[in-house]
Amino acid sequence: MTQLSPPKLDRSQFELLDQNDSLAPMRDKFSLEEGLIYLDGNSLGVLPKATADHVSQVIKRQWGVDLIRSWNSHHWMQKPTQLGHKVGRLIGADVGQTIVCDTTSVNIFKLAAAAIKMRPDRSKLITETGNFATDLYLLQGLAKLLGDHIEVIALPRDEVLQAVDEDTALVLLTHVHFKTGSMWDMASVTQITQAQGALMMWDLSHSVGAMPIELDQNNADLAVGCTYKYLNGGPGAPAFVYVAQRHLSQFEQPLTGWLGHAKPFDFVDDYQGATGIEQAMCGTPAVLGNAALEVALDLMLSADMAQVRRKSQHMGQLFIELIQQRCPWFELGSPTNPEQRGSQVSLTHPQGYAIMQALIARNIVGDFRAPNNLRFGFTPLYLRYVDLWDCVEALVDIMSTESWNQPQFLKQQAVT
Ligand SMILES: *Cc1c(COP(=O)(O)O)cnc(C)c1O
Repeated sequence: MTQLSPPKLDRSQFELLDQNDSLAPMRDKFSLEEGLIYLDGNSLGVLPKATADHVSQVIKRQWGVDLIRSWNSHHWMQKPTQLGHKVGRLIGADVGQTIVCDTTSVNIFKLAAAAIKMRPDRSKLITETGNFATDLYLLQGLAKLLGDHIEVIALPRDEVLQAVDEDTALVLLTHVHFKTGSMWDMASVTQITQAQGALMMWDLSHSVGAMPIELDQNNADLAVGCTYKYLNGGPGAPAFVYVAQRHLSQFEQPLTGWLGHAKPFDFVDDYQGATGIEQAMCGTPAVLGNAALEVALDLMLSADMAQVRRKSQHMGQLFIELIQQRCPWFELGSPTNPEQRGSQVSLTHPQGYAIMQALIARNIVGDFRAPNNLRFGFTPLYLRYVDLWDCVEALVDIMSTESWNQPQFLKQQAVT
């Protein structure tokens, strides 16, 4: 067994932090099973208590009774715009630039295609190797569709910015890296990209709801993000699209479905895109998904995002400190500087998968990302400081007894 130095921190210090935490009362707004420590809100956020009743109302009353009339009477058709406005408040976007629709994957395709149209003489789409797979795949699919003149260039993180040149149409980066939690400096990266005349698209999937984001202030061009992670919109919740106001007059996305039309209910034969952000829409809104998302957004908007970020950074620091003091078995897979880190910490270990399974068997839920990352997400609205202590306590036990080394933990499941 590895020799451990005596712990300098103890559980009572974490209890005290919870007692003095002004965000602590928010936890009661979420439906969390007794005894569960949930460190995976960066992958699927927890169910807000108010969601079930609201969705049930929408099903029973709006769908069950009012039926087709609800498109008008319950504003089903306006929800993508209304929810876009709410998301906009979380990402520093003034009204009229954000809309909720489709999935992040589909939205990346729309915006990347629109970016190429806005930079017709340029051939390069630049992104990061090891970016979230869908971001890479969508650029690759788009380049294949468009033919030889469009090229996807994926480079290691520290080479991305040097590669941006006068032939670059678009740079697509994920603001907070899904595996390592590393965060790009939005202001400077946007500026470097635009200095070459290229457009900047931010994927905010791992930052929205975890920290204040200022798209307008940072002069972002385009952005997408999903709402089922830190925003707690529910599994498969609709995603969002942001297009800066100054681009809307040239913005043309290729999925020209009827709801992106200037006048969908005229049912004319020829497509004429809406002039506003509504043009980013394609087909019928996901009404039930939107209903769940609205509850979650209202809850998130009731919290002070600067405070959320402070607690998240504090939790990350304490977690790293505990790991460094008590868990010599792991390497840190995330930046140590809280200013360069999102709201998660990754630990690496060759047996990461089995270790995470052993932790999950104790009702402490994080997740695993190949090849060797154990991810721990910090969601300040419902996570307690003691949860960090208890998680590390369990890790110490699992590692020192090697209890992860059992067949039921070693067998890989389909979703990690
Ligand atoms: C989670 C995530 C997505 C998800 O895309 P879906 O279309 O909702 O499956 C996309 N990009 C990043 C960076 C993500 O973290």
